[in-house]
Amino acid sequence: MSSELLFANRLFDTYENFREKTLNGRRIKHAQLVPLIEKLASETLFAVSEEGKSIEKREIYSLKIGWGSIKILLWSQMHGDESTATRALFDIFNFFKSDDFAREKEEILSNCTLIFIPMLNPDGAERFERRNAVGIDLNRDARQLVSPESQLLMNLRNQFEPHFGFNLHDQDPYYSAGETAQPAAMSFLSPAFDFVKTIDAARISGMKVITLINRVLQDFVPDKIGRYSDAFLPSAFGDVIQKTGTTIILVESGNVHYDLEKEFIRKLNFVSIVSALSSISKGSYLYENEEDYNKIPFNKKDNLFDILLKNVNLVQNELEIRADIGLRRVFGVENDTLVIAGIGDLSANSAYDNLNCPEMRVLREIRIGDSADVLVPYLTTSGLSSRFGQYEGLPGLLS
Ligand SMILES: [Zn+2]
Repeated sequence: MSSELLFANRLFDTYENFREKTLNGRRIKHAQLVPLIEKLASETLFAVSEEGKSIEKREIYSLKIGWGSIKILLWSQMHGDESTATRALFDIFNFFKSDDFAREKEEILSNCTLIFIPMLNPDGAERFERRNAVGIDLNRDARQLVSPESQLLMNLRNQFEPHFGFNLHDQDPYYSAGETAQPAAMSFLSPAFDFVKTIDAARISGMKVITLINRVLQDFVPDKIGRYSDAFLPSAFGDVIQKTGTTIILVESGNVHYDLEKEFIRKLNFVSIVSALSSISKGSYLYENEEDYNKIPFNKKDNLFDILLKNVNLVQNELEIRADIGLRRVFGVENDTLVIAGIGDLSANSAYDNLNCPEMRVLREIRIGDSADVLVPYLTTSGLSSRFGQYEGLPGLLS
């Protein structure tokens, strides 16, 4: 086993020692982070600064550690409903605070200077919404910089001039890793900085780091790693910053079965990011073959459903028509709801739960976007309710 893999396995096995126990589930809020950041500010290891405020005047902080020459900037949750990496960053802060892994941490901190910005979009997090308080997608504001949150990130980038930038996001649960039924647990991208997708030295570095992360993660989630679309987005932060010569690593936290709150994915984030930092600090990623990056399958968008009810009978006007019904979650401020997201031949799709329902007869009109509650009276097939039990906590179907 390579030393990177060994290290990743030790991180994976000891993760619970570092997990920030006050942060649970996807809907974390700014108010939960403030006391944690205040506590970190009292540690000599961390230099904490308030970089600015969001539109609704929530403080946005940076945390700096290390004294080395390789500069690395990591920011999370520029999309308010994408909290997985924010949670992992606090696990990483605990990792640096702890007494464990002293040698590996010394290597990182003496070779690198790290600046973290957890939760760049606290107003969006408050609403559990992608966009900021005025409805702007910060990741399409990297050129005009009209939002204070975008200005803050770009100012910090310009002052710090990092060699590496980790752009930390979540992707929706309906991406598969390639043309498969496997959900993409994590996806990565070395973003393009022009329409012809020129590959320069900075991008090759990104490809090598991602190749390393992929190699490590295959041990924990085989065949569940995807490559994010490399279409050039001229107003996206990753693409704009990549153009300055900073190596951007886009990390998209995906999904696995029955990890609705993405706590396992959070753990994979922790392992991915710490493994990458360690490899960058040692320069070992340089030995990766960037050709292997191209072997990571591209994500397939909208391929999956949460639940796929196959071979249901739609009864209407004295006809019985056989169709599949696909259900997906809609993410609200307080909780998720399940809605009908597909009706018809969905045999080319897959789902976290695939259920064959030839005895199910739906005796009312249904439409895309309807609450899945409308199907409850027709859930006759035995075993269905126990499978839905996996979605406990979702209002609707289980009541
Ligand atoms: Zn995002």
